[in-house]
Amino acid sequence: MFDKLSERLSGVFDRLTKRGALSEADVDEALREVRIALLEADVALPVVKDFIAQVREGAVGEAVVKSITPGQMVIKLVHDALVKMLSAGEETATAISLNAPAPVPIMMVGLQGSGKTTSTAKIAKRLAERQGKKVLMASLDTRRPAAQQQLAILAEQIGGRSLPIVPGEPPVAIAKRALQAARLEGFDVVMLDTAGRLAIDEELMDEVAQVHAATNPHETLLVADAMTGQDAVTVAKAFKDRVSVTGIVLTRVDGDARGGAALSMRAVTGCPIKLLGVGEKIDALEDFHADRIAGRILG
Ligand code: GDP
Repeated sequence: MFDKLSERLSGVFDRLTKRGALSEADVDEALREVRIALLEADVALPVVKDFIAQVREGAVGEAVVKSITPGQMVIKLVHDALVKMLSAGEETATAISLNAPAPVPIMMVGLQGSGKTTSTAKIAKRLAERQGKKVLMASLDTRRPAAQQQLAILAEQIGGRSLPIVPGEPPVAIAKRALQAARLEGFDVVMLDTAGRLAIDEELMDEVAQVHAATNPHETLLVADAMTGQDAVTVAKAFKDRVSVTGIVLTRVDGDARGGAALSMRAVTGCPIKLLGVGEKIDALEDFHADRIAGRILG
């Protein structure tokens, strides 16, 4: 996803490190090119401005110009600014928290087609395999025909469990039944896959808010499609303004998105990216580590 950005930045830094000494004008020129590279990668403008300001602050004065390897110093400043942009200074990878009494409710929200149902099954499989958790999945999507069946099929594929479907049951009632069933049957986690829409609308937001109020989820994960760039960030912000989103699952990171969504998401929404969807297969899920992503970008 970051190939183009990575290529652009390595061009800038190659030129910089070839010089023995740097003038302030050299640093300015490099930062101008970094700024263009970030904007071309579709990073939100305010985020780019903060980023450049942070690097410039580190670079001003004597430190960079007078250091023995000034080019390397600039690269380090850019690396640190990238990590900060991606993680807001949080040091460790922010995994899904299950630190609550069982059954722990996890609610999945997002637009239709963002990868919500697939991500629900991916996360359920991972919690079962890596942490030995007993996970119940329930689809609250009463809108899209066959959405509930889709989750049931995925659950079967991964050897997991989904809540039996009761035709005509409204979303809040399904969610309550899922929690009740999970309590009675000793599940550790209940994953609630809510309905999406093609775009943000009031009805959707009301439904999401109602389910949230009725279930008080320990994690509310917003699923956003990296391929939609800044739209993904706008959508995430709209959800965040309505329900307390605790983390973001960024999907289609395996596609040829320019990276702007991944790079702007944390700074614009204030929510940590927790997981990356990297393919259609159920195992195609990665933890999000800001420093690894920064390392990947800077090569
Ligand atoms: P929902 O409407 O939000 O529940 O979306 P789905 O889970 O049904 O996913 C829509 C499509 O995107 C399906 O074809 C998925 O296989 C695909 N998909 C989901 N996540 C990823 C991902 O990380 N990478 C790729 N390449 N495809 C994905």
